[in-house]
Amino acid sequence: MAKEEWSIADFEIGRFLGEGRYGRVYLAREKQSGYVVALKVIFKAKLEKYQSHAKIRREIEIQHGLNHSNVLRLYAWFHDETRVFLVLEYAARGELYELLSSLHRFSEKRAATYIASLAEALTYCHGKHVIHRDIKPENLLLDIEGRLKIADFGSAVKSISKRQTMCGTTDYLAPEVVENKEHDHAVDNWTVGILCYEFLYGIPPFSDEDEQVTFQRILNVDLKFPSKPEVSAKAKDFISKLLVKDSSKRLSIEEILTHPWIVQNADPSGKLQV
Ligand code: AMP
Repeated sequence: MAKEEWSIADFEIGRFLGEGRYGRVYLAREKQSGYVVALKVIFKAKLEKYQSHAKIRREIEIQHGLNHSNVLRLYAWFHDETRVFLVLEYAARGELYELLSSLHRFSEKRAATYIASLAEALTYCHGKHVIHRDIKPENLLLDIEGRLKIADFGSAVKSISKRQTMCGTTDYLAPEVVENKEHDHAVDNWTVGILCYEFLYGIPPFSDEDEQVTFQRILNVDLKFPSKPEVSAKAKDFISKLLVKDSSKRLSIEEILTHPWIVQNADPSGKLQV
């Protein structure tokens, strides 16, 4: 996909894959190479409406610079009068969220494999000073081989120093973000704990209909492990060591990858059949 100037004429457009806040995503084929991609079509009018130019620019700048097997590739981008087009890696098995909804919860092997892949991706991103800040099942896609890919870098930041902007989705917010304090890459580690709980129990740990209650439960780290479904002691230990209020005391990414629950359960190939 190495070319200076792309245009919509370079692509054959295939089936509709999904709709996001700013536009639609289609399967597409680059005419010359036959390469299959996902083409995200963003309407400039929508960017205007939501005042999201900066968000999309950041998404493009950050994602374009990342190249890892667990991070969705942004190969190229271009625009015309009314639209911005993102040429993305095609994730044939779609959203992890859909899979979680249909299976209700994951086995420990499946959960640990996805968490290990996520940790690999975060090691890479954090090494490049990129904090994702909006890790949630909707932003995790699966490729044809069942490999996890982090997508949607619209909330990400590139930063060496600490940040202080509230963003992300309520259930997945870290305490320091709820409190509007300075935060760093450890917010993503907190989210790994939230996701792991959600993978194993089917719902995020601090979820409540009332957003204010969710915030309070996050701040109190009101973590409860129901007796059903049965979850191993090692998995609970893993989650408890990530959902720690003091961000400096959370498991680091390296410790995530060497925790006994991950070592025993994660499939090293990272590929899972659905
Ligand atoms: P988004 O605007 O990023 O929220 O995307 C809208 C929907 O399109 C998502 O919910 C996915 O189901 C689908 N989608 C987005 N990107 C891809 C991709 N790279 N490969 C396959 N499906 C995608």
